[in-house]
Amino acid sequence: MIKLMTPGPTQVRENVRLARSLETTNPDVDLDFCEEYKRTCDMIGEILHTKEAVYILSGEGILGLEAACASLTEAGDRVLVIDNGIYGRGFADFVSMYGGVPVLYTQPYDETICPIKLKEYLEIDHNFKYATIVHNDTPSGMTNDVQSIGKILNEYNIMSVVDSVSGMVGEYLNIDEAGLDIVCGGSQKAISAPVGLTIVTVSKRAITSMESRKTPIPAFYANLLNFKNYYVDKWFPYTMPISDIYGLRQAILNIKNEPNIISRHEKIAKATRQALIAGGLTLYGKNGYSNNVSVFQVPEGISQGQILDIMKREHGIMLSGSFGCLAGKVIRIGHMGENANLADMMDVFQGLDQTFKALGYQLTVSMKEVFKAYLV
Ligand SMILES: *Cc1c(COP(=O)(O)O)cnc(C)c1O
Repeated sequence: MIKLMTPGPTQVRENVRLARSLETTNPDVDLDFCEEYKRTCDMIGEILHTKEAVYILSGEGILGLEAACASLTEAGDRVLVIDNGIYGRGFADFVSMYGGVPVLYTQPYDETICPIKLKEYLEIDHNFKYATIVHNDTPSGMTNDVQSIGKILNEYNIMSVVDSVSGMVGEYLNIDEAGLDIVCGGSQKAISAPVGLTIVTVSKRAITSMESRKTPIPAFYANLLNFKNYYVDKWFPYTMPISDIYGLRQAILNIKNEPNIISRHEKIAKATRQALIAGGLTLYGKNGYSNNVSVFQVPEGISQGQILDIMKREHGIMLSGSFGCLAGKVIRIGHMGENANLADMMDVFQGLDQTFKALGYQLTVSMKEVFKAYLV
């Protein structure tokens, strides 16, 4: 078995896998399923600190991002696309696709968004229906301070769409405190259920905005209003993927039973960065290092492919490269959700110590020893 240490999909605990094999009922007809769905949504709301609506949609994380843009955007709407990473910029495509006008606020890709600078920009131009931002930019391992940014956007009455697909439950997130309108998550990142579901939280303000559109939402699967009355009407827009939801419910229960889950992520991430730096490697980025994924630059003279290949073949560990402007240049260790544990991360560093040795690259110290010393 290969040990999955990629930044999503992540490892899945046995009780989640077993929950997916439970006997199933008819999700359209059986009212008990509707109750289970709602209970799962309520637990998610509690974990993410929101009293707003929570929906689980059948589709991978990207569906949530598209649904947010499809449901909010009307022709000609100006949308602020906060862009300091590959996923950040990607929102511009969804905005355009649904007729909006994306206005890019582009900042360096190796720095977290500075809330003060953003405020200065908004002081001059704040005529936006909503803004998009990525919480944790997985390709670069950088986290944006969506708590502060949400509050600033609210000062200018700009709604927010947040991609927290790889952020939530590993990074601090308090949706109502920050006043975030739509927050998207995915089952396969820190939540550690298999891939296939999107989670979205939707504020009353966002729902009102959707309901007061001049034109109908040009989508069905991506129409968030289709979920608005599911509980009152006991009706879902399409047959819910019941086994996926049973799996998610168990993964969410696991999270609920671990009140210190964020500090587990923080500790593992700090120890990981210490070990990489002590070994003589260079982290990607200047600040905003993520709790959920660490990204280091591939040293000159060796290739990303060689490192990934030896890690997989000789050590049975799957790490990941990156894509876009980072393709071939960095290695990513996904330490989120079930991956964020001492034993697996010790194996990662033991593997990396030996891989660099095999490639003739001299590390300053054993990264495994530094990692261990920091945590044990
Ligand atoms: C994983 C992820 C998504 C979902 O997208 P895929 O490319 O299909 O995996 C969206 N946003 C972020 C930040 C992610 O990490």
